[in-house]
Amino acid sequence: MTQPLLSIRNLTIDYIGETTDFRAVDDVSFDVAHGEIFGLAGESGCGKSTIAFAISRLHKPPALIRSGQILLEGRDVLDLDPRELRHFRWREVAMVFQSAMNSLNPVLRIEAQFYDVLHTHQGMNRKQARERTAEMLRLVDIQPDRMRDYPHQFSGGMRQRIVIAICLALNPKIVVMDEPTTALDVVVQREILQRINELRKTFGFSVLFITHDLGLMVQVCDRIGIMLAGKLVEQNTAQKIYGAPQHDYTKKLWASFPSLHGATVTEIAAT
Ligand code: ADP
Ligand code: MG
Repeated sequence: MTQPLLSIRNLTIDYIGETTDFRAVDDVSFDVAHGEIFGLAGESGCGKSTIAFAISRLHKPPALIRSGQILLEGRDVLDLDPRELRHFRWREVAMVFQSAMNSLNPVLRIEAQFYDVLHTHQGMNRKQARERTAEMLRLVDIQPDRMRDYPHQFSGGMRQRIVIAICLALNPKIVVMDEPTTALDVVVQREILQRINELRKTFGFSVLFITHDLGLMVQVCDRIGIMLAGKLVEQNTAQKIYGAPQHDYTKKLWASFPSLHGATVTEIAAT
């Protein structure tokens, strides 16, 4: 058996309160293979973002990892020291948040924002960074000469694509996307995900994808894990999770999305 890229082993995370602790993630285990898109679904508050933050080592108090392992190519992310962590963030794991399109610095040209990342993490000079920036912008369908523009000169969907291009510029092994497109309209959301899907095939990175849009999730994910109150109750291929759900909660989840009802996964995949 080949080693998975990412392996979450018995992960348990509490939020520490003054009187009681709240168990947000309860003994969760799943693997993400090289080049795979793995989806995490479940109602708001079930612990998806808590897992996403822990994988990126961005969790902060009151979140406390009680037990478990987060293995990236066999190495426990939870054991990294601060120096290793700087390398790990961006170069190994990139994270795209819901409000990512607002994470661009409004007073800096796009070019400068790419340069910051490429210079800091890969020691590129201005000229090298400019070339890489042009290449990355082309990949997300933005004219390279627009690198001279400021964030406010782009639409929300374009800003989101720019953030994704910055994340991918360092060739991360896995991209964690926590509701990355929720603030965008449905058509733009789907276009961006389609692009990510193509880029993944070119670059071979894996994706952990979290979204409220179950239809989109079934369409783009290879496998899906279903969470309920901190527990991963079921995981399977997208096709089986949708076409033959085992857990009652998974069945209810699909039933609550009438737009999916009646259509088969193949029909959805064809849309
Ligand atoms: P999801 O992303 O699935 O909506 P989260 O991971 O954000 O869920 O949250 C899981 C649970 O942890 C929720 O019940 C939430 O209220 C709780 N939680 C999240 N952040 C904090 C925090 N900083 N302090 C206390 N509880 C938190
Ligand atoms: Mg969340």
